[in-house]
Amino acid sequence: MRDRLRLAIPNKGRLVEPTLRLLHDAGLVFDEHDRSLVARVQNYDLDVLFVRTNDVIEFVGDGVADLGITGIDLLTETSAELPRIRDLGYGRCRLAAAVPNDSPYQAIEDLAGLRVATAHPNTARRFFETRSIPVDVIPISGAVEVAPRLGLAEAIVDLVSTGSTMVMNGLRPIGDVLSSEAVLVANPAAHRERVAELTAIDTMLTAVIAARGQKYLLMNAPAAKLAELEALLPGLESPSVIPLAHDGMIAIHSVVGSDEVWGLLPRLKAAGASGILVLPIEKIVP
Ligand code: AMP
Repeated sequence: MRDRLRLAIPNKGRLVEPTLRLLHDAGLVFDEHDRSLVARVQNYDLDVLFVRTNDVIEFVGDGVADLGITGIDLLTETSAELPRIRDLGYGRCRLAAAVPNDSPYQAIEDLAGLRVATAHPNTARRFFETRSIPVDVIPISGAVEVAPRLGLAEAIVDLVSTGSTMVMNGLRPIGDVLSSEAVLVANPAAHRERVAELTAIDTMLTAVIAARGQKYLLMNAPAAKLAELEALLPGLESPSVIPLAHDGMIAIHSVVGSDEVWGLLPRLKAAGASGILVLPIEKIVP
């Protein structure tokens, strides 16, 4: 058995930047500048393999890598039976069916008897088969959105995140086939035999993901106001309450969602809080 764990990640494309950010935020130090095939992590027994997004699953399946980061859509398309360790919260997109704006079709069922072009033929076929909608799936490997204009198909199944590419190409989504995001997968043997090591990597990454979108909130307040302030703080966990040197005063520490914090500040102040601090959180290990 190899000593050092190997993690395969994409070397090109839209998953690269957020994947590198996740690994660096987790504290792993490695040089990714030339993205040559392997980078040695300096402060952990881990090698990072840079491979094509589409090849990550194969490297992990074959055991060349023990872990990999790829998209759920790619995993679904290859039907690879890889243990899915963790959804990573970035690279979010959906696989959607779409038709040209001026076409009469409004729903997935309307596609019966038509041609559907896609780079995800296996996923699309399974989707339409389970719904007993007979379509002719046309596999193509790129520029799916131009297929209707070229007369290749009446509809497409393609990845969308904001939807702007579809709009730009005069297409209208009519239904979702799959939701996707980046995912951490493992080689089945490594998943059985290297449990402690895989769990350690998972914990490192999860700690970063859990902290994203959360803020640490500190404030001072009269002790008499505790119940009122507690009622305002969303109940993730009970807040820590610490007595202050001044009689009758307390400090309250809590973790709140970044989205909620701005709306919360004026209400906390109105309820008697002062010296309110909002701090970023690097990692959370529950
Ligand atoms: P790449 O083709 O290498 O840029 O990577 C494509 C992968 O990024 C897909 O398989 C998805 O998992 C993910 N992804 C996230 N958002 C999108 C999007 N809007 N379009 C295509 N792929 C996306």
